[in-house]
Amino acid sequence: DRVEVRTALLSVSDKTGIVEFARALAERGVRLLSTGGTHQALADAGVPVTDVSEVTGFPEIMDGRVKTLHPNVHGGLLAIRDDAEHVEAMKAHGIGPIDLAVINLYPFEEVRAKGGDYPTTVENIDIGGPAMIRAAAKNHAYVTIVTDPADYSALLEELAHGSTTYAFRQRLAAKAYARTAAYDTAIANWFAEALDIAVPQYRTVGGVLKEEMRYGENPHQKAAFYLTDENRPGVATATLLQGKQLSYNNINDTDAAFELVAEFRPENGPACAIIKHANPCGVATAPTLKEAYMRALACDPVSAFGGIIALNSTLDGETAGEIVKLFTEVIIAPDADEAARAVMAAKPNVRLLVTGGLPDPRTPGITAKTVSGGLLVQTRDNGMVEDLELKVVTKRAPTAQELQDMKFAFKVAKHVKSNAVVYAKDGQSAGIGAGQMSRVDSARIAGMKAEEAAKAMGLAEPLTRGSAVASEAFLPFADGLLSAIAAGATAVIQPGGSMRDAEVIAAADDAGVAMVFTGMRHFRH
Ligand code: 5GP
Repeated sequence: DRVEVRTALLSVSDKTGIVEFARALAERGVRLLSTGGTHQALADAGVPVTDVSEVTGFPEIMDGRVKTLHPNVHGGLLAIRDDAEHVEAMKAHGIGPIDLAVINLYPFEEVRAKGGDYPTTVENIDIGGPAMIRAAAKNHAYVTIVTDPADYSALLEELAHGSTTYAFRQRLAAKAYARTAAYDTAIANWFAEALDIAVPQYRTVGGVLKEEMRYGENPHQKAAFYLTDENRPGVATATLLQGKQLSYNNINDTDAAFELVAEFRPENGPACAIIKHANPCGVATAPTLKEAYMRALACDPVSAFGGIIALNSTLDGETAGEIVKLFTEVIIAPDADEAARAVMAAKPNVRLLVTGGLPDPRTPGITAKTVSGGLLVQTRDNGMVEDLELKVVTKRAPTAQELQDMKFAFKVAKHVKSNAVVYAKDGQSAGIGAGQMSRVDSARIAGMKAEEAAKAMGLAEPLTRGSAVASEAFLPFADGLLSAIAAGATAVIQPGGSMRDAEVIAAADDAGVAMVFTGMRHFRH
C-alpha cells in the first residue's frame, strides 16, 4: 500500500515553512508544480519548480480565480492509477499523475475576523484550493493531501522510505475534509451574519479545532474545543495569562460566568459573577470592582469555594488581593492590570483569562446541543429586560428601587438553570434557587440559602428581606409567590401568561406586593 511520490503540486496562501519543505522534497527527487505566488516564493529561494500554467497550458486568469481548475490538474489528482480506462484517458489527454498535493486556503477566516469589507471577504473565498483538496483526499488510495504546515515534518519522515503508507494518507484525507468543512462553515456563518439572517437553518455548526483536552466532563470521556467565532470576546478567544489549561468543565462554567457578567455593561459600573456548575452562586454590582466581588460572594460564600469568577471590567490589584483569599478555579475579565497580575502570580495555579472585551448579549448567534442521533440548533437567547415593555399587574406599582432590583434579578435568572428563582436587592443577588423540578422548591431553596448566607456572613437578617424576586418563567401557582413573600420579597418580576395569572395577581395584591410581567421567558434547561 506504499505509494511513491514523484510529482507534487504546491499551492499555499500560508507560506510558513514551504521553502524548506519544498527543498526537502526536491532533494528527494520530487518534481514540483506550483501556482503563481507559491511558485515565485520557491523560485526566489532557488528551489527547482515548474509553473502549473505549463501543465494546464493555460495562464492564471481573473485575478487568480482560475488557476488550477483544469482537467490536467484534476485528472492528475483523481485518476485511478491501475484502472485501464483512467490510464487510457490520461494518455489520450496528456495528463500526468500528481501524487502529492500541498494546499492551504485563502485566509477567509482571518479576513472575516479582521472585519474585512464585503467584497474583500468574498474575494477571499478560495475555489480551486478546496476543489483540489477534496479531489486529492478522495483519491487517497494513491494521493497524499497535506493541508496543514504542521504535517510537513511527518510527511518528510514518511518519505524517508521514499513512499507513503495507506494509513498515513487516510489520516491526512480525513483531516483534509475536516478542513474544507470548517472552511465552508465559516463562509456560511459569515453570510448569515452579514445578511442578518437569524434563522439557524442558514447557520452551520462547526468550527476550527482549538485544542484537545485531557478528558471531557468525566475522565473516561474524550474532549476537544472548537473555535466558531473569533470575534466574540469570551472563553474561546481569551488569553490564558497563568494557570493550567482549562478543563472541559472549566470552559463550560467560565462561559456561563462571562456571558452572565456581560449583561452588566461596564458603563453602568463594575459587576462580578461567581459561578459553580454553570449556575451563579452570587452576582453583584458596586461602585468598585472589589466591592462587587465581595457582595457577589456574600450571596452564597459556601458554594463560591472553588468557583469561577467573572468580571465585567479590568481586574485591579485590590480586587485580586481579595479574590486570592478564597480558593478559585478560574478568573475571567476583559483585562488585568499590572498590580493584579503581580498579585495573581503568587497563586500560579489559579487560571487567569483576559478577553480584551465583553461579548454583546444582544448580538444574534446560535447555540447547539446534541440529542441522541440529532442536533438541536437555535438562536441565542439575546433578549434583554431593558428592551422589554414591563406591565404592572398589581394594584401597587413598584418603587424605582424595586424596579431596578427586579430588572437585576430577571437578568440573573436568565442565566440560571430552570426552574430559576432569584432574589435581588440593591444591585446584589440575595438568594438563588436553581435547577429544581418545581418552581416552589427553587423559591424555597433560594430563601433557605439566603438565611444560611446571612448566618455565615454575620448579618442581622437575610438579604432577601425587602428584595425583588424574579422567576424566569411564569409562576404557575400562587405557592411560589407565597414562598417568596415569606422570604421577604416585596416585588415580583415574571413573564406572566399562566392560566392562573389572576390567582397569582390576587395573592400579590393581598400581600401588598408589586408585580410586573415581562412577556418574555428565559428557560434554560
Ligand atoms: P499562490 O500564492 O500560489 O498564487 O496561490 C495559492 C492559493 O491559491 C492557495 O491558497 C490555493 O488554495 C489557491 N488556489 C489554487 N488554485 C486556485 C484556483 O483555481 N482558484 C482559486 N480561487 N484559488 C486557487
